[in-house]
Amino acid sequence: MTYERDRMGREKRTIAAMVGIFCSGNHGSTGVLCGNCREMLDYALARLEKCPFGAEKGPCSKCEMHCYKPAMRDKVRLVMRYAGPRMLKKHPILAVKHLLYGRG
Ligand code: SF4
Ligand SMILES: [Zn+2]
Repeated sequence: MTYERDRMGREKRTIAAMVGIFCSGNHGSTGVLCGNCREMLDYALARLEKCPFGAEKGPCSKCEMHCYKPAMRDKVRLVMRYAGPRMLKKHPILAVKHLLYGRG
């Protein structure tokens, strides 16, 4: 697998880790996401899967297309704000990549 092709996989792992941090910190989950967060993660993963830019995509936060529906975009933004700084402790490697690629 090439570096570029793995980028999508890394983005998926990053968003999954961030939603996990957000859910355990705000909804008391331990290992399994609550229903709302599961729905949000599934939505974000589906958007990534269908992203027209594919492996060439940049950060969603800088995307002109903004394929997220507004309500989901707001939720994901909250997750990023909460989980971003905490990622540095829990998943330093993913966090560094995340900071490089932007804040979703
Ligand atoms: S917001 Fe833009 S970059 Fe992000 S998944 Fe949607 S189309 Fe792709
Ligand atoms: Zn939750």
